[in-house]
Amino acid sequence: MSRPLARRVAVVTGASSGIGAASAEKLAELGARVVVLARRADRLADLVARIERDGGSALAIATDVTDAAALADAAARVAADFGGADLLLNNAGVMLPAPIEELAADQWKQQIDLNITGLMNTIGAFTPQLIGAAAERGVADLINTSSIAARNIFPNFAVYSGTKAYVTHLSRHLRAELGARNVRVSALEPGIVGTELQNHVTDPGAREWLAGARESMEWLTAEDVARTVGFIAAMPPRVNFQQVTIMPTGQA
Ligand code: NDP
Repeated sequence: MSRPLARRVAVVTGASSGIGAASAEKLAELGARVVVLARRADRLADLVARIERDGGSALAIATDVTDAAALADAAARVAADFGGADLLLNNAGVMLPAPIEELAADQWKQQIDLNITGLMNTIGAFTPQLIGAAAERGVADLINTSSIAARNIFPNFAVYSGTKAYVTHLSRHLRAELGARNVRVSALEPGIVGTELQNHVTDPGAREWLAGARESMEWLTAEDVARTVGFIAAMPPRVNFQQVTIMPTGQA
C-alpha cells in the first residue's frame, strides 16, 4: 500500500460520523497521523481504535467547535504532541431544512453557529500551524466541506445553503491569500451523501423530500467522499483543487 501522506499530520473535524470519520480512516490509510475532533468522545475512541487496529496513528480530542477556547486548547495539544497540523479537513456541519416561516430560531442559529462560526474557529486555531508547516515543508492543505447547496437552489434549504455559499466563497478568497505561501485551499462540494446528517432533520416536509430522494437514486457514501479527500491531499504540491463537486450519478 502506498503511503503518500506519510509524515503528514491531519486534523479532521466532524470526525465522529459520516464524511469526517470515513475521511479520517482514509487519511490514516494513506499514511497521515490523524487527529479527530467532535463532541462524542465514545465515537472518537472507537474510530481511533479502528485506525490503530489497521496500523495507523490517531489521537482523539473531544471538542465542541463552536467553542473557540476549546479549539485553541486542541490546537495547542496538536502542536505539543505532533509539532502542528499540515492538513485540516474542516468538516463539522449540520443541515436543518424547513420552510423559512416555520424555521425555529434555534435551528437557524445552530446552522450558522456550527457551519460558519465553528468553521471559522477551526480556521483561526489551526491556520497558523498550516502556514508554518507549508513554510517548512512546502505544502499544507485546508479542505473546507461545503456542499452543492452553495450554488444550487433547493427550496427550504435557504439558511443551510447560505452557510455553504459562505464556505465556498471564503475558500476561494483564502486560496488566493494562502496559495502563494504553499497552503492549498479547497472547497469540497458533495451532493447527497448517506450519513447521520439527514437524521437531525425535524421538518416533516423536508423529511418526506429526503425519503423520496433516497428512493429515487443511489446516494453517495461517506467512503466515496473520503476517497476524494485522499485524492486531493495526495496530489503533488503544485496541484490545488479550488473546488471539487462530487455528485451521485442520479442526482440532477
Ligand atoms: P454527520 O451528521 O454524519 O456528521 C457531522 C459531524 O459534525 C459529526 O461528527 C458531529 O459530531 C459533528 N458536529 C456536530 N456539531 C458539532 C459541534 N458543535 N462541535 C464539533 N463537532 C460537531 O454528517 P456528514 O458527515 O454528512 O457531514 C459532514 C459535512 O458534510 C457537513 O459540513 C455537511 O454539511 C457536509 N455535507 C454533507 C452532505 C450530505 O448529504 N451528507 C452533502 C454535502 C455536504 P458530534 O455530534 O459528535 O459532535
